[in-house]
Amino acid sequence: MKLSSRITNITGGGSDGWGVHYRALALRAAGKPVTVLSMGEHDTRTDLSILTSMDASAKGGNTGYSPVVGFESLRRAVAERIERHTGVPTGPENVIIVPGGQAALFASHHAVCDPGDTALFIDPYYATYPGTIRAVGALPRAVMAHADNDFQPLRADLEAAAKGAKSLLINSPNNPTGAVYSEQTMHDIADVCQGNDLWLISDEVYDTQVWEGTHISPRALPGMAKRTLIVNSMSKSHAMTGSRVGWVCGPADVIDAIHNLATHNTYGVAGFVQDAALFALGQGVAAEDAVAAPFRRRRQIVMDALAGQNAVRAAPIRGAMYAMLDVRTTGMTGDGFANALLDAELIGVMPGESFGEGGAGHIRVAMTVADDVLADALRRIASFAATQMP
Ligand code: PMP
Repeated sequence: MKLSSRITNITGGGSDGWGVHYRALALRAAGKPVTVLSMGEHDTRTDLSILTSMDASAKGGNTGYSPVVGFESLRRAVAERIERHTGVPTGPENVIIVPGGQAALFASHHAVCDPGDTALFIDPYYATYPGTIRAVGALPRAVMAHADNDFQPLRADLEAAAKGAKSLLINSPNNPTGAVYSEQTMHDIADVCQGNDLWLISDEVYDTQVWEGTHISPRALPGMAKRTLIVNSMSKSHAMTGSRVGWVCGPADVIDAIHNLATHNTYGVAGFVQDAALFALGQGVAAEDAVAAPFRRRRQIVMDALAGQNAVRAAPIRGAMYAMLDVRTTGMTGDGFANALLDAELIGVMPGESFGEGGAGHIRVAMTVADDVLADALRRIASFAATQMP
């Protein structure tokens, strides 16, 4: 029996770029002392206080269906957080609770793209972006963000890609590059969206991990609230990746439409998970800072470990939990370097190419291991690169 082309086309047929990661895991499973720097997930778990609140909610009986759109209390707490960050009046009617940022990305594209529409995304990109766009029947079109411009997309490139497109997906702070879009970049993005009547889908899952500069949500920019959908989740901000809870924020009519989609798809998020999310948000900025603190510290560790050598150059690590390292001095591709590094040093990193053409000649290091392990790995990466330079 034949499956739908809609579902078989999701992966796009190419290699998924996870080969080195899986090889690193297999070597580790075989007993080799591999340092795995390819995992985009905290090395800490969800805080016990959040789990206690989840437990109390579930034991208190909150185990039945919950409202598909999310609890009013949680929608209100999310709306208040967004209003605080953007200054734009935001109410529960602007928010739907969904099972994580990935579900929010899917729902947002589903809401604004018809089959056959062109949906823009910035390359280098988070692994699921093109597949998510294909999953709703739209056609992904990459806009290159160049390493030489610190991975900030250029207005001219956005403008050239925008003709005939329906939406633009951005991610700042960025996975994999660590870029935080400047005020200029955000204003250019807003202008291009307005000039070409694009929806803007703004993936802000790393908004609590900003090391340099300021996180600007495009919802805050003049005229943008009506065409912007914010995607966010508790995964990165509160180390709640496994809880699967996030949201879309946008105009009330779009939220109503996504509510209808959710009724026919996820049917909501577990009530006890929503209660835990409400509790976690209630802990305020201090709790978010505590989850972000290891990455803030390790960003400095990466920069210190790479100081005083020129074989490897780190792109400015302005946000998120990753360092994008330029290994072009070795003459190797990111993929070639990552494979050779795993063989020679038993260090697993992601090849830049697995995040798109814009990541060519780079490797991505996730700062998700203990400080001393990270420092040691970085020094060994730099030494290895030096031995490969022509
Ligand atoms: N967007 C980006 C940029 C990510 O890195 C991730 C997770 N790695 C997600 C979205 C999805 O996160 P989640 O579904 O766990 O909220």
